[in-house]
Amino acid sequence: MRFDVLTIFPSLFYGHLEEGILGRAVKRGLVDIRLINIRDFATGVHKATDDRPYGGGDGMVMTPEPLTKALESIERLDRSLVILLSPQGKTFDQEAAWDCTEWDQLILICGRYEGVDERIRLGCIDREISIGDYVLSGGEIGALVVMDAVSRLIPGVLGGERSNQEDSFQDGLLEYPQYTRPRVFKGREVPPVLLSGDHEKIRQWRRRESLKRTLERRPDLLKKARLTSEDEKFLAELKSQ
Ligand code: SAM
Repeated sequence: MRFDVLTIFPSLFYGHLEEGILGRAVKRGLVDIRLINIRDFATGVHKATDDRPYGGGDGMVMTPEPLTKALESIERLDRSLVILLSPQGKTFDQEAAWDCTEWDQLILICGRYEGVDERIRLGCIDREISIGDYVLSGGEIGALVVMDAVSRLIPGVLGGERSNQEDSFQDGLLEYPQYTRPRVFKGREVPPVLLSGDHEKIRQWRRRESLKRTLERRPDLLKKARLTSEDEKFLAELKSQ
């Protein structure tokens, strides 16, 4: 999977792309991330990438010319999608992350200031993605969110470490609680079933905790979750308590 990120602040990405799972995926060549500085395509002494809004008002707007030139400089793979990070886009979720894995190349445009000139949105964008109902100062954090969530789904990225199949949202549920050493911490013990070595009992406990947690915290998810008749029975019991 290749990501091309258009930004005026490439240095914001450095640490994150060098560490952890994403950093390892880059080093192993499983994901190819290219940072394109929009300012390199700006002209004039100040290399400005923004200007005042027509019609007046506060703030500045990203001008279309450097952004278009930056976009045109990118080598396009066969299955390539241009995404604008925007609070006005469709909210990104696990399903959207899976959908992104269908493409060979995601081109992520990070807005700044009051956002990009509308003609960029109208002429160059395939999709607008929001990472939540709040306004950030720039699209860089959103681009990192998208790259991180999508990369985790690419075969080999998580390695032998663990599978993404048990993560929250994979089957429409939140994940069960996790425990590690020590066995007792500040008076709280690890649930005995996890020490039993009985794989079927552990599977059942985890599934039930997952259902319980989802019912308590995100009951909306249950409408779309893939539930067995055993799950339905357990949920009915929980609801009747
Ligand atoms: N004036 C814009 C509005 O009200 O819709 C907000 C602009 S915001 C200050 C600057 C840039 O941050 C946006 O162009 C976008 O790229 C990014 N951004 C802000 N909030 C975001 C969100 N929730 N999801 C994704 N990107 C966001």
